[in-house]
Amino acid sequence: MSHESIRNIGIISHIDAGKTTVSERILFYSGETHKMGEVHNGQAVMDWMPQEQERGITITATATSCRWGDLRINLIDTPGHIDFTIEVERSMRVLDGAVAIFSAVEGVQPQSESVWRQADRYAVPRICFINKMDRVGADHARTLSQMEERLGARPILLQLPLGDEADFSGVIDLLTEEALLFDRGDLGKTMLRRPLPLECVERVGEERLRLTEALADFDDSILADFLEGRRVSTERLRLALRSATLACRIFPVLLGSALRNKGIQPLLDAVGLYLPSPHEVPALVGRNPRDERHETVGCDPAAPLRALAFKVMCDEGRMLTYLRIYSGTLRFGATLLNASRGVSERVGRLFRMHSHRREDLTEAAAGDIVAVLGFRETFTGDTLCDAGHPLVLEGLTVPEPVVSVA
Ligand code: GDP
Repeated sequence: MSHESIRNIGIISHIDAGKTTVSERILFYSGETHKMGEVHNGQAVMDWMPQEQERGITITATATSCRWGDLRINLIDTPGHIDFTIEVERSMRVLDGAVAIFSAVEGVQPQSESVWRQADRYAVPRICFINKMDRVGADHARTLSQMEERLGARPILLQLPLGDEADFSGVIDLLTEEALLFDRGDLGKTMLRRPLPLECVERVGEERLRLTEALADFDDSILADFLEGRRVSTERLRLALRSATLACRIFPVLLGSALRNKGIQPLLDAVGLYLPSPHEVPALVGRNPRDERHETVGCDPAAPLRALAFKVMCDEGRMLTYLRIYSGTLRFGATLLNASRGVSERVGRLFRMHSHRREDLTEAAAGDIVAVLGFRETFTGDTLCDAGHPLVLEGLTVPEPVVSVA
């Protein structure tokens, strides 16, 4: 698989907004259970919750890999407490993009504000999911205004809800102008695509125009078409949306109810459409411990290996080390140099971690996230390299915090 199709993402939210539920649903819709519950013609439904509970989905894993179409999504656990700057820096360094979850009832809460600011600080591109659209008092428009007022963000709504509160049954995709119906309640994974309901056509036309106008700020050809009253194709709107999202200038917003299995498939699609592959994020800088020279590390599988250990845990008496590979290719059985400590380490086993199994790998390339069994002296934050090419990855260049004067 090419590194182009990887997305290393974290989910950030205020406690209770639905991070756990969204993560579980992402693993369900994109995990191995996908094959079992494959939907044909939008009809087949399976009662998956009890099965999943028996299997015990591990959403607390440090990094869990899943598939969505051609995409490999590595879901990275982000620290619950954002006070520990070093922890935040590590997780922000490892993920390339994030899904920010808000509750449609509670809106922007204090913790969503602080994690948002951290992500701002590290320039992490984000898409937003306004969850709990099924609850009494859900108001996505209010949440959008709060994002503007409290976060100083520019949210871009990509969907309109179909039905309110308990009757929330789907969304209208403003880009494709079709209705997406999540009509199987708690039971299934069916999503039906339907033409717009007649009564919505006018409103959707207006909203799409508003979206076009917003994107015209980032794209001159869209601006020209907008001013001339020409329709801009979905593909062009997506491209503009993608580049503005990658630059953290706007934040696409989707709607749903994770608990009721509504809105997860479009969210997964949006992860692929609008969040960056490892290839599209700024290169890291490393320092050669032998001559103190600095080197940039781009996402190239043919370059020397540079991998960051971002979590070390004990696994039945052996160390399980999670690695983000920034460049090169990591191979099973290889002897590596821990450049941070000047010690050799051997890759005893190499895994991709799934929600309820480990997949043995023979190799993994730049951009990916894997776990290694068998390291002895590696700690969180260390860099692993090919023995002949030592380099210590350094912190992200973080702008100085703004000091406010009272
Ligand atoms: P976390 O603290 O952010 O991980 O939030 P959880 O995923 O644990 O959700 C907090 C509570 O909200 C739980 O009781 C969930 O069942 C509930 N919840 C999550 N998503 C939804 C939703 O879409 N609708 C409703 N009504 N409840 C939800």
